[in-house]
Amino acid sequence: MNRISMLQQLDENKTWDMLIIGGGATGLGTAVDAASRGFSTILIEADDFAKGTSSRSTKLVHGGVRYLEQGNLKLVREALQERGWLLKNAPHVTRKLGFVIPAFSVVQKIYYGSGLKFYDILSGKLSLGTTKFLSKKTTQNFLPGINQKNLSGGVIYYDGQFDDARLAINLANTAAKHGAVLLNYCEVVSILKKKIKPTDKQAKIYGVVAYDAINDKTFEIKSKVVINATGVFVDDIIQMDNSNSNEIVTPSQGIHLVVNKNFFPGNYALMIPKTDDKRVLFAVPWHNKIVIGTTDTEIEDISDEPIPLQEEIDFVLKHANRYLKTNIIINDVTSMFAGLRPLVRTKGVTNTSMLSRDHVIIVSHSNLITITGGKWTTYRKMAEDAVNNAIFVAKFSYKECITKHLKIANSEFDNINYDDAIEKIYSLENIKRFIENEMAITVEDVLARRTRLLFLDAKAAIQTAPRVAKEMAAIFNYGEHWIQLEIDNFTQLAKNYLP
Ligand SMILES: Cc1cc2nc3c(=O)[nH]c(=O)nc-3n(C[C@H](O)[C@H](O)[C@H](O)COP(=O)(O)OP(=O)(O)OC[C@H]3O[C@@H](n4cnc5c(N)ncnc54)[C@H](O)[C@@H]3O)c2cc1C
Repeated sequence: MNRISMLQQLDENKTWDMLIIGGGATGLGTAVDAASRGFSTILIEADDFAKGTSSRSTKLVHGGVRYLEQGNLKLVREALQERGWLLKNAPHVTRKLGFVIPAFSVVQKIYYGSGLKFYDILSGKLSLGTTKFLSKKTTQNFLPGINQKNLSGGVIYYDGQFDDARLAINLANTAAKHGAVLLNYCEVVSILKKKIKPTDKQAKIYGVVAYDAINDKTFEIKSKVVINATGVFVDDIIQMDNSNSNEIVTPSQGIHLVVNKNFFPGNYALMIPKTDDKRVLFAVPWHNKIVIGTTDTEIEDISDEPIPLQEEIDFVLKHANRYLKTNIIINDVTSMFAGLRPLVRTKGVTNTSMLSRDHVIIVSHSNLITITGGKWTTYRKMAEDAVNNAIFVAKFSYKECITKHLKIANSEFDNINYDDAIEKIYSLENIKRFIENEMAITVEDVLARRTRLLFLDAKAAIQTAPRVAKEMAAIFNYGEHWIQLEIDNFTQLAKNYLP
């Protein structure tokens, strides 16, 4: 997967079967689905793959225990099936993980245990392990960092965990292997519409105008179908199509704090079953650190670099510290990051935590297909539904979806040991591979998404930036000016990840 060879496949005279806008979980999954069914497919991403919400999740491949409590059985069952297939198709970036809920009374233990046994039953043949009641002693053994005051026992259940940005890059490579063209740093700036048949009452979409920020070039791309998979930005594209459209997304921010493992040793995750705002909170081991989150805050401004609010940081610290032996203070945080959920607006619902996590597909009068909502875990099903709709809209002859059992590409970088020396992880040879096989263009691409150092330890990422910038410049044949600009840009951005 190489940007130069991708660009060489562009041809203004060609009409693609499917054009996908957005290179997050939804768009990349759709590209894999479309290309693997044999449709000629192009995906256009304004920034880097997974730059948006898809690199900022809690990293859980899950059915959503909380949605079970809300009674949304269909969503939970669907997500549990998807969880099972994803763990089978991408074992290199996913894993099964035990989650322990501490209980402080027998009633609590029975309540959580029975709910989770049902969660397990819903996963059917794709179950990851049996839910079990735990004694006080076993709970302490599984969660050595937990505050034992008033603890009466616990419940263990199993869910999945993954590296979100690495899975995104692997999906991009899978789509490319099936013949898709994917371009990062290429923004859709307008939509091309015209009356295609004399009988058409409405103008129909026949492509987009895209701007390649790397080569400072604007060009047209023609396609029989255009799919809008831009997450919290879907309304911008919908507005390009029809400026009279209503907005469909309510963005909701969630943050995570990352701390060293000594605060929470062991190999199990902690699930806090009820926060003050009646949600759940997790402390999850990830790449030898602990990711704690998340929040659910309705937000006005949509940004590609959302910033944790002070009240969200306080909320996460307060809830984690209720359960931990050793109090975490803000200076213990090695990285913090925020993401925006693209939640679909529902009439009468004022609290974002109550908005549905289901996905929706909307087809406009001009045939723009918008897909949003959902979760990382359900990206494959979302993609299948989007492509089925596209087949219908474009009147293509039907081709069966094959992604339920399609193996996802792997990479030597899926399981980096971040305790290895920086010189080993960011060797010239590895940087060359990030560029040539994974389309890394900037220092941020390498430190935030090809590797996850920025999300694990922002200070270490800032210290590593000059080395990565120099090596990238050597490969691209760029000069001192580019090196300095990249170091400055990355340092500026990474400061938002520091406490
Ligand atoms: C805090 C938080 C925690 C979460 N945790 C989990 C979890 O543990 N498990 C789980 O299953 N799900 C989780 N989710 C949900 C999941 O992360 C999202 O549902 C998913 O990542 C959304 O992917 P997307 O592709 O729709 O959007 P995005 O990842 O935001 O992708 C949209 C892309 O479109 C691009 N774009 C925008 N405008 C244009 C344009 N004009 N031209 C070209 N490209 C454009 C953007 O740059 C962006 O890369 C979480 C979400 C949040 C916010």
